[in-house]
Amino acid sequence: CGIVGYIGAQQAAPILLEGLGRLEYRGYDSAGIAVLGARGTVKVVRRVGRVHALAAAVPARTAGRVGIGHTRWATHGAPSEANAHPQPSADGRIQVVHNGIIDNAAELRARLATEGVDLASDTDTEVLAHLIAGAARTRDTLEAAVLAALAQVTGTYAIAVVDTATPDRIVVARNGSPLVIGVGEREMFVASDVSALVRHTSSVVHLEDGELASVTATGFRTFTRERDDVAKTPTTVELTV
Ligand code: GLU
Repeated sequence: CGIVGYIGAQQAAPILLEGLGRLEYRGYDSAGIAVLGARGTVKVVRRVGRVHALAAAVPARTAGRVGIGHTRWATHGAPSEANAHPQPSADGRIQVVHNGIIDNAAELRARLATEGVDLASDTDTEVLAHLIAGAARTRDTLEAAVLAALAQVTGTYAIAVVDTATPDRIVVARNGSPLVIGVGEREMFVASDVSALVRHTSSVVHLEDGELASVTATGFRTFTRERDDVAKTPTTVELTV
């Protein structure tokens, strides 16, 4: 199970696929990526099995400079394409990758179903996509929508979220599952493990439990679930690629 993310001037898909390959050692049963394209579009490809099977399924023309990727180790729902991540909101606007377990997912799924939401997977993760999309209707920013959704869940998570309506950022959060930000030159990376980003940068920021970050191509802002800003200075990692 692992998470990667990219935002910058390069094409995202090859960087995401390469990063997922570097997380293979963590073990997984399926993998997927979502890449934000022009004019509010998003391309999502998910596959059961190896990262190279996913890579073979991603069209070479997949264009976009922002994206997230995931290798899944199923906890809720069998390994299948529908259960692979990214998990989308009903309209596809929100895409979420998640490592960990949402403890109150059954309760939240039941509530969402009574609200008329069509649940398209058997995962605990899917509730996050619907909760963020629901909150986004009345919130000004993706950050605020993610905070509102996280206030409703209990459990462990590292998440990365993209929104086709605000394609200039990736919002990430950590509670009990690791997450690091890689700081590049006018490009930023996200990963559950530095091994997925040392090829690109040695400057990293570790999120702590209860922290979120809003990551753009040129920088990042870290804050807590209580909305307090946290100043973080990147540290230099020395790892051979
Ligand atoms: N609990 C989530 C699922 O089963 C995430 C699993 C993971 O950490 O890969 O889909």
